Amino acid sequence: MARTKATARKTTGGTAPRKDSKRSGSSLAMNISSDESMAVVPAPNVPKLIQQDFCYICINGGDMLSCDQCTRVMCKAHIPLPQSQGINVASSIFICVACHLRIFASSKPAPFFGFYKGDINQSPSTWTPMSKQPLVIQGDYQLTASSQVVAQPLLLLHFILASIEPKGHPARISAELLSAYLPADSFVYKEVVFNLTTDELVKKHICKATAFTGNLGKYSLDQVVIIITNHSHDITGDLYLGPNLCSSVEDFMQPLFPPALVSFIQPKLTTVIMMSCGALIGERDSFNAISDFVKRMSIDNLIAFTAKEFHASLVTLFFVDFTYRILIEGFDVNTSMTHMLAAMSQSHLARHTNVVHMRLDTQTPMVDSTIYIFTNPRWRPWGNRLPPACPDWDDIQLLLQAKQLCWLVQLFKARGI
Ligand SMILES: [Zn+2]
Ligand SMILES: [Zn+2]
Ligand SMILES: [Zn+2]
Repeated sequence: MARTKATARKTTGGTAPRKDSKRSGSSLAMNISSDESMAVVPAPNVPKLIQQDFCYICINGGDMLSCDQCTRVMCKAHIPLPQSQGINVASSIFICVACHLRIFASSKPAPFFGFYKGDINQSPSTWTPMSKQPLVIQGDYQLTASSQVVAQPLLLLHFILASIEPKGHPARISAELLSAYLPADSFVYKEVVFNLTTDELVKKHICKATAFTGNLGKYSLDQVVIIITNHSHDITGDLYLGPNLCSSVEDFMQPLFPPALVSFIQPKLTTVIMMSCGALIGERDSFNAISDFVKRMSIDNLIAFTAKEFHASLVTLFFVDFTYRILIEGFDVNTSMTHMLAAMSQSHLARHTNVVHMRLDTQTPMVDSTIYIFTNPRWRPWGNRLPPACPDWDDIQLLLQAKQLCWLVQLFKARGI
Protein backbone atom coordinates (compact mmCIF):
# COMPACT_ATOMS: atom_id res chain seq x y z
CA MET A 1 0.00 0.00 0.00
CA ALA A 2 1.14 3.52 -0.67
CA ARG A 3 3.03 4.99 2.24
CA THR A 4 3.20 8.64 3.11
CA LYS A 5 5.47 10.79 5.24
CA ALA A 6 6.01 14.44 6.03
CA THR A 7 9.42 16.13 6.08
CA ALA A 8 10.60 19.70 6.65
CA ARG A 9 10.41 21.88 3.56
CA LYS A 10 13.59 23.59 2.37
CA THR A 11 12.32 26.29 0.08
CA THR A 12 11.37 29.66 1.40
CA GLY A 13 8.19 31.31 0.19
CA GLY A 14 4.87 29.64 -0.47
CA THR A 15 1.88 30.84 1.47
CA ALA A 16 1.66 31.67 5.16
CA PRO A 17 -0.71 33.61 7.37
CA ARG A 18 0.15 37.27 7.57
CA LYS A 19 0.99 38.76 10.92
CA ASP A 20 -1.71 41.24 11.82
CA SER A 21 -0.28 43.86 14.15
CA LYS A 22 -3.70 44.54 15.73
CA ARG A 23 -4.20 40.99 16.90
CA SER A 24 -2.42 39.10 19.61
CA GLY A 25 0.18 36.47 18.75
CA SER A 26 -1.75 33.56 20.21
CA SER A 27 -4.53 33.60 17.64
CA LEU A 28 -1.92 33.61 14.89
CA ALA A 29 -0.36 30.43 16.17
CA MET A 30 -3.69 28.64 15.96
CA ASN A 31 -3.94 29.34 12.24
CA ILE A 32 -0.79 27.43 11.47
CA SER A 33 -1.29 23.71 11.19
CA SER A 34 1.35 21.66 12.88
CA ASP A 35 3.37 19.24 10.78
CA GLU A 36 4.17 17.28 13.91
CA SER A 37 0.77 15.62 13.81
CA MET A 38 1.79 13.76 10.64
CA ALA A 39 3.25 10.43 11.63
CA VAL A 40 6.22 9.18 9.63
CA VAL A 41 5.35 5.73 8.37
CA PRO A 42 8.37 3.43 8.47
CA ALA A 43 9.19 1.44 5.35
CA PRO A 44 8.04 -2.15 5.87
CA ASN A 45 10.02 -5.20 4.74
CA VAL A 46 12.98 -3.15 3.53
CA PRO A 47 15.59 -3.81 6.19
CA LYS A 48 18.65 -2.02 4.86
CA LEU A 49 17.29 0.60 2.50
CA ILE A 50 16.13 3.78 4.12
CA GLN A 51 13.22 5.70 2.70
CA GLN A 52 14.36 9.14 1.65
CA ASP A 53 13.20 12.36 3.26
CA PHE A 54 13.24 14.78 0.35
CA CYS A 55 11.35 14.73 -2.93
CA TYR A 56 13.57 13.64 -5.79
CA ILE A 57 11.74 15.92 -8.20
CA CYS A 58 11.93 19.22 -6.33
CA ILE A 59 14.56 18.31 -3.63
CA ASN A 60 12.17 19.74 -1.05
CA GLY A 61 10.49 18.37 2.05
CA GLY A 62 6.74 18.27 2.64
CA ASP A 63 3.93 15.72 2.42
CA MET A 64 5.43 12.74 0.67
CA LEU A 65 4.36 9.58 -1.07
CA SER A 66 6.89 6.77 -0.67
CA CYS A 67 7.63 4.67 -3.73
CA ASP A 68 6.95 0.96 -3.27
CA GLN A 69 9.76 -0.01 -5.65
CA CYS A 70 12.66 2.14 -4.45
CA THR A 71 13.59 4.47 -1.60
CA ARG A 72 12.54 7.67 -3.36
CA VAL A 73 9.72 9.87 -2.15
CA MET A 74 7.61 12.32 -4.16
CA CYS A 75 5.60 15.33 -3.01
CA LYS A 76 1.87 14.64 -3.04
CA ALA A 77 1.56 18.10 -4.57
CA HIS A 78 3.09 16.89 -7.85
CA ILE A 79 0.19 14.49 -8.43
CA PRO A 80 -3.13 16.26 -8.01
CA LEU A 81 -5.53 13.32 -7.88
CA PRO A 82 -8.71 13.80 -9.88
CA GLN A 83 -11.61 13.47 -7.40
CA SER A 84 -13.76 11.73 -9.99
CA GLN A 85 -11.39 8.81 -10.34
CA GLY A 86 -11.71 7.79 -6.69
CA ILE A 87 -8.14 6.62 -6.20
CA ASN A 88 -7.65 5.12 -2.76
CA VAL A 89 -4.08 6.11 -1.96
CA ALA A 90 -3.84 3.99 1.17
CA SER A 91 -4.73 0.72 -0.52
CA SER A 92 -2.74 1.13 -3.74
CA ILE A 93 0.77 0.39 -4.82
CA PHE A 94 2.56 3.63 -5.63
CA ILE A 95 5.54 3.92 -7.95
CA CYS A 96 7.58 7.07 -8.46
CA VAL A 97 8.34 8.56 -11.87
CA ALA A 98 11.90 7.18 -11.86
CA CYS A 99 10.61 3.64 -11.31
CA HIS A 100 7.88 4.23 -13.88
CA LEU A 101 10.55 5.12 -16.43
CA ARG A 102 12.55 2.06 -15.47
CA ILE A 103 9.68 -0.44 -15.33
CA PHE A 104 7.07 0.72 -17.82
CA ALA A 105 8.86 3.13 -20.13
CA SER A 106 12.35 1.71 -20.57
CA SER A 107 12.03 1.18 -24.33
CA LYS A 108 9.27 3.58 -25.33
CA PRO A 109 7.31 6.32 -23.59
CA ALA A 110 4.35 5.12 -21.53
CA PRO A 111 1.71 7.11 -19.63
CA PHE A 112 2.25 7.52 -15.88
CA PHE A 113 -0.49 6.02 -13.72
CA GLY A 114 1.39 6.05 -10.40
CA PHE A 115 -1.19 4.09 -8.37
CA TYR A 116 -1.85 0.43 -9.06
CA LYS A 117 -4.00 -2.42 -7.75
CA GLY A 118 -2.18 -5.67 -7.38
CA ASP A 119 0.27 -7.68 -5.35
CA ILE A 120 3.50 -5.83 -4.62
CA ASN A 121 5.37 -9.14 -4.64
CA GLN A 122 4.19 -10.04 -8.14
CA SER A 123 5.56 -8.71 -11.40
CA PRO A 124 4.42 -5.15 -12.26
CA SER A 125 2.93 -6.56 -15.47
CA THR A 126 0.19 -8.11 -13.32
CA TRP A 127 -0.79 -4.77 -11.75
CA THR A 128 -3.69 -2.70 -13.03
CA PRO A 129 -3.81 1.09 -12.88
CA MET A 130 -6.16 2.56 -10.25
CA SER A 131 -7.27 5.30 -12.63
CA LYS A 132 -8.61 5.26 -16.16
CA GLN A 133 -6.68 8.35 -17.16
CA PRO A 134 -2.93 8.78 -16.74
CA LEU A 135 -1.88 11.23 -14.04
CA VAL A 136 -0.42 14.59 -14.93
CA ILE A 137 2.73 15.48 -13.00
CA GLN A 138 2.81 19.06 -11.78
CA GLY A 139 6.09 20.70 -10.98
CA ASP A 140 9.52 21.11 -12.49
CA TYR A 141 12.40 18.72 -12.16
CA GLN A 142 15.04 20.47 -10.07
CA LEU A 143 17.25 17.41 -10.29
CA THR A 144 17.10 14.76 -13.02
CA ALA A 145 14.65 11.97 -13.73
CA SER A 146 17.03 9.42 -12.24
CA SER A 147 18.27 11.45 -9.26
CA GLN A 148 17.52 10.61 -5.66
CA VAL A 149 17.94 12.51 -2.43
CA VAL A 150 19.74 9.74 -0.63
CA ALA A 151 19.31 9.00 3.05
CA GLN A 152 21.82 6.14 3.34
CA PRO A 153 24.13 6.65 6.34
CA LEU A 154 27.43 8.29 5.41
CA LEU A 155 30.78 8.88 7.08
CA LEU A 156 32.87 11.84 5.95
CA LEU A 157 36.29 11.32 7.49
CA HIS A 158 38.81 14.12 7.15
CA PHE A 159 42.48 13.57 7.99
CA ILE A 160 44.37 16.85 8.34
CA LEU A 161 48.12 17.29 8.70
CA ALA A 162 48.83 18.97 12.05
CA SER A 163 50.34 22.10 10.47
CA ILE A 164 47.52 22.79 7.99
CA GLU A 165 44.77 25.22 8.96
CA PRO A 166 41.44 23.72 7.85
CA LYS A 167 39.47 26.98 8.05
CA GLY A 168 37.11 27.21 5.05
CA HIS A 169 38.17 23.78 3.83
CA PRO A 170 35.90 22.38 1.10
CA ALA A 171 35.37 19.24 3.22
CA ARG A 172 33.70 21.41 5.86
CA ILE A 173 31.49 23.01 3.23
CA SER A 174 30.56 19.55 1.99
CA ALA A 175 29.71 18.46 5.55
CA GLU A 176 27.55 21.53 6.02
CA LEU A 177 25.62 20.77 2.82
CA LEU A 178 25.16 17.12 3.76
CA SER A 179 23.84 17.97 7.20
CA ALA A 180 20.86 19.62 5.50
CA TYR A 181 19.86 16.37 3.81
CA LEU A 182 21.02 13.55 6.06
CA PRO A 183 19.48 13.17 9.52
CA ALA A 184 21.93 13.52 12.42
CA ASP A 185 21.88 9.78 13.13
CA SER A 186 22.79 8.99 9.50
CA PHE A 187 25.71 11.32 9.02
CA VAL A 188 29.08 11.56 10.72
CA TYR A 189 31.65 14.21 9.86
CA LYS A 190 34.89 13.57 11.67
CA GLU A 191 38.12 15.57 11.49
CA VAL A 192 41.28 13.82 12.62
CA VAL A 193 44.36 16.03 12.92
CA PHE A 194 47.39 13.80 12.57
CA ASN A 195 51.03 13.97 13.51
CA LEU A 196 52.80 10.65 12.99
CA THR A 197 56.39 11.79 13.46
CA THR A 198 57.26 9.77 16.60
CA ASP A 199 56.37 6.27 17.82
CA GLU A 200 54.61 7.86 20.77
CA LEU A 201 52.43 10.02 18.50
CA VAL A 202 51.69 7.09 16.18
CA LYS A 203 50.53 5.05 19.18
CA LYS A 204 48.27 7.91 20.23
CA HIS A 205 46.81 8.23 16.73
CA ILE A 206 46.15 4.48 16.50
CA CYS A 207 44.38 4.49 19.88
CA LYS A 208 42.26 7.47 18.89
CA ALA A 209 41.38 6.11 15.44
CA THR A 210 40.58 2.64 16.79
CA ALA A 211 38.31 4.06 19.49
CA PHE A 212 36.59 6.27 16.95
CA THR A 213 36.07 3.32 14.59
CA GLY A 214 34.54 1.31 17.45
CA ASN A 215 32.00 4.07 18.03
CA LEU A 216 30.88 4.00 14.40
CA GLY A 217 29.13 0.65 14.92
CA LYS A 218 25.89 2.30 16.02
CA TYR A 219 25.40 4.14 12.71
CA SER A 220 25.27 1.17 10.26
CA LEU A 221 27.15 3.26 7.71
CA ASP A 222 27.05 2.22 4.05
CA GLN A 223 29.24 4.79 2.44
CA VAL A 224 32.55 6.35 3.42
CA VAL A 225 34.29 9.39 1.96
CA ILE A 226 37.83 9.97 3.20
CA ILE A 227 39.59 13.25 2.58
CA ILE A 228 43.32 13.41 3.24
CA THR A 229 44.61 16.96 3.54
CA ASN A 230 48.37 16.80 3.47
CA HIS A 231 51.49 18.11 1.75
CA SER A 232 53.57 16.05 -0.57
CA HIS A 233 57.29 16.39 -1.12
CA ASP A 234 57.90 18.47 -4.26
CA ILE A 235 60.43 16.06 -5.74
CA THR A 236 59.66 12.58 -4.43
CA GLY A 237 55.90 12.83 -3.96
CA ASP A 238 56.34 11.52 -0.40
CA LEU A 239 53.57 12.40 2.03
CA TYR A 240 54.10 14.32 5.26
CA LEU A 241 53.85 12.50 8.59
CA GLY A 242 53.93 15.74 10.51
CA PRO A 243 54.96 19.36 10.05
CA ASN A 244 58.58 18.67 9.06
CA LEU A 245 58.93 15.02 8.21
CA CYS A 246 57.79 12.98 5.26
CA SER A 247 57.78 9.33 4.29
CA SER A 248 56.88 7.03 1.42
CA VAL A 249 53.17 6.71 0.69
CA GLU A 250 53.15 3.17 2.16
CA ASP A 251 54.81 4.28 5.40
CA PHE A 252 52.32 7.11 5.69
CA MET A 253 49.14 5.13 4.99
CA GLN A 254 50.08 2.24 7.30
CA PRO A 255 49.91 4.15 10.61
CA LEU A 256 47.20 6.53 9.37
CA PHE A 257 44.81 3.61 8.84
CA PRO A 258 45.01 1.23 11.81
CA PRO A 259 43.73 -2.35 11.19
CA ALA A 260 40.34 -1.67 12.82
CA LEU A 261 39.72 1.24 10.44
CA VAL A 262 40.92 -0.77 7.42
CA SER A 263 38.50 -3.61 8.11
CA PHE A 264 35.73 -1.10 8.72
CA ILE A 265 36.34 0.59 5.36
CA GLN A 266 36.98 -2.43 3.14
CA PRO A 267 33.37 -3.65 2.71
CA LYS A 268 31.93 -0.13 2.31
CA LEU A 269 31.47 1.96 -0.79
CA THR A 270 34.51 4.18 -0.32
CA THR A 271 35.82 7.26 -2.07
CA VAL A 272 39.14 8.83 -1.12
CA ILE A 273 40.01 12.39 -2.09
CA MET A 274 43.70 13.26 -1.84
CA MET A 275 44.13 16.95 -1.10
CA SER A 276 47.85 17.20 -1.60
CA CYS A 277 50.36 18.69 -3.99
CA GLY A 278 50.82 17.18 -7.41
CA ALA A 279 54.12 15.33 -7.02
CA LEU A 280 52.15 12.60 -5.25
CA ILE A 281 50.63 11.73 -8.59
CA GLY A 282 53.41 12.94 -10.87
CA GLU A 283 56.14 10.77 -9.36
CA ARG A 284 56.05 7.21 -10.44
CA ASP A 285 56.81 5.49 -7.12
CA SER A 286 54.25 7.44 -5.17
CA PHE A 287 51.72 7.04 -7.96
CA ASN A 288 52.17 3.26 -7.88
CA ALA A 289 51.96 3.28 -4.09
CA ILE A 290 48.65 5.14 -4.28
CA SER A 291 47.37 2.50 -6.72
CA ASP A 292 48.43 -0.24 -4.31
CA PHE A 293 46.70 1.58 -1.47
CA VAL A 294 43.46 1.69 -3.50
CA LYS A 295 43.71 -2.04 -4.09
CA ARG A 296 44.72 -3.05 -0.57
CA MET A 297 42.02 -0.97 1.12
CA SER A 298 39.44 -1.93 -1.50
CA ILE A 299 38.72 1.72 -2.25
CA ASP A 300 36.15 2.10 -5.00
CA ASN A 301 37.25 5.52 -6.21
CA LEU A 302 40.17 7.82 -5.51
CA ILE A 303 40.38 11.38 -6.75
CA ALA A 304 43.61 13.38 -6.70
CA PHE A 305 44.91 16.63 -8.13
CA THR A 306 48.12 17.40 -9.97
CA ALA A 307 48.76 21.09 -9.24
CA LYS A 308 52.34 21.51 -8.08
CA GLU A 309 51.28 23.91 -5.37
CA PHE A 310 47.81 22.69 -4.63
CA HIS A 311 45.26 25.02 -3.04
CA ALA A 312 42.32 23.26 -1.44
CA SER A 313 40.11 26.33 -1.72
CA LEU A 314 40.45 26.39 -5.52
CA VAL A 315 38.62 23.06 -5.79
CA THR A 316 35.72 24.08 -3.54
CA LEU A 317 33.22 24.03 -6.40
CA PHE A 318 34.31 20.53 -7.33
CA PHE A 319 33.51 19.44 -3.76
CA VAL A 320 30.14 21.11 -3.87
CA ASP A 321 29.32 19.42 -7.18
CA PHE A 322 30.63 16.07 -5.90
CA THR A 323 28.52 16.44 -2.76
CA TYR A 324 25.34 17.08 -4.72
CA ARG A 325 25.81 14.55 -7.51
CA ILE A 326 27.42 11.67 -5.67
CA LEU A 327 26.50 12.02 -2.02
CA ILE A 328 23.05 13.60 -2.26
CA GLU A 329 21.71 12.51 -5.66
CA GLY A 330 23.34 9.09 -5.41
CA PHE A 331 25.09 8.94 -8.78
CA ASP A 332 28.14 6.80 -9.35
CA VAL A 333 31.53 8.58 -9.44
CA ASN A 334 32.58 6.88 -12.64
CA THR A 335 29.62 7.96 -14.74
CA SER A 336 29.52 11.42 -13.15
CA MET A 337 33.15 12.34 -13.70
CA THR A 338 32.74 13.94 -17.13
CA HIS A 339 29.63 15.81 -15.96
CA MET A 340 31.48 17.17 -12.95
CA LEU A 341 34.41 18.23 -15.12
CA ALA A 342 32.12 19.87 -17.65
CA ALA A 343 30.59 21.83 -14.77
CA MET A 344 34.10 22.78 -13.61
CA SER A 345 35.25 24.04 -17.01
CA GLN A 346 34.53 27.64 -16.05
CA SER A 347 35.77 27.36 -12.48
CA HIS A 348 39.07 27.93 -10.68
CA LEU A 349 39.73 24.22 -10.71
CA ALA A 350 40.17 24.11 -14.48
CA ARG A 351 42.95 26.68 -14.39
CA HIS A 352 44.51 25.31 -11.25
CA THR A 353 44.86 21.58 -11.66
CA ASN A 354 44.37 18.40 -13.63
CA VAL A 355 42.20 15.75 -12.04
CA VAL A 356 43.11 12.11 -11.56
CA HIS A 357 40.51 9.42 -11.02
CA MET A 358 41.55 5.93 -9.93
CA ARG A 359 38.91 3.26 -9.94
CA LEU A 360 39.17 -0.23 -8.55
CA ASP A 361 37.76 -2.81 -10.91
CA THR A 362 36.68 -5.43 -8.39
CA GLN A 363 36.40 -8.13 -11.06
CA THR A 364 40.03 -8.21 -12.16
CA PRO A 365 41.02 -6.58 -9.61
CA MET A 366 42.96 -3.80 -11.32
CA VAL A 367 43.18 -0.10 -10.73
CA ASP A 368 42.14 1.90 -13.78
CA SER A 369 43.41 5.45 -13.74
CA THR A 370 42.24 8.38 -15.78
CA ILE A 371 43.82 11.78 -15.89
CA TYR A 372 41.74 14.73 -17.03
CA ILE A 373 43.83 17.59 -18.37
CA PHE A 374 42.13 20.92 -18.88
CA THR A 375 43.15 22.79 -21.98
CA ASN A 376 42.08 26.16 -23.31
CA PRO A 377 44.08 28.31 -25.75
CA ARG A 378 43.51 31.46 -23.68
CA TRP A 379 43.07 30.32 -20.11
CA ARG A 380 45.51 27.52 -19.86
CA PRO A 381 47.84 27.46 -22.83
CA TRP A 382 50.74 26.87 -20.46
CA GLY A 383 51.22 24.97 -17.26
CA ASN A 384 50.01 21.63 -18.55
CA ARG A 385 52.57 19.49 -16.87
CA LEU A 386 53.28 16.21 -18.52
CA PRO A 387 51.04 13.46 -17.27
CA PRO A 388 52.67 10.82 -15.08
CA ALA A 389 53.89 8.83 -18.03
CA CYS A 390 57.41 8.56 -19.36
CA PRO A 391 58.70 6.45 -22.27
CA ASP A 392 59.10 3.35 -20.12
CA TRP A 393 55.44 3.46 -19.16
CA ASP A 394 54.47 1.46 -22.17
CA ASP A 395 50.92 0.75 -21.13
CA ILE A 396 49.25 4.03 -21.97
CA GLN A 397 45.99 3.02 -23.54
CA LEU A 398 44.53 6.07 -25.06
CA LEU A 399 44.99 9.77 -25.47
CA LEU A 400 42.03 11.58 -26.86
CA GLN A 401 40.36 14.92 -26.96
CA ALA A 402 37.00 14.40 -25.34
CA LYS A 403 34.24 15.70 -27.57
CA GLN A 404 32.39 18.72 -26.21
CA LEU A 405 34.76 18.99 -23.29
CA CYS A 406 37.86 21.09 -22.97
CA TRP A 407 39.49 18.23 -21.12
CA LEU A 408 42.08 15.90 -22.56
CA VAL A 409 41.55 12.42 -21.25
CA GLN A 410 44.27 9.89 -20.72
CA LEU A 411 43.66 6.39 -19.45
CA PHE A 412 46.39 4.18 -18.14
CA LYS A 413 47.08 1.33 -15.81
CA ALA A 414 50.02 1.67 -13.49
CA ARG A 415 52.76 -0.90 -13.88
CA GLY A 416 53.18 -3.64 -11.37
CA ILE A 417 49.49 -4.05 -10.64
ZN1 LIG B 1 8.50 17.65 -4.73
ZN1 LIG C 1 10.67 4.51 -7.18
ZN1 LIG D 1 51.92 21.28 -0.27
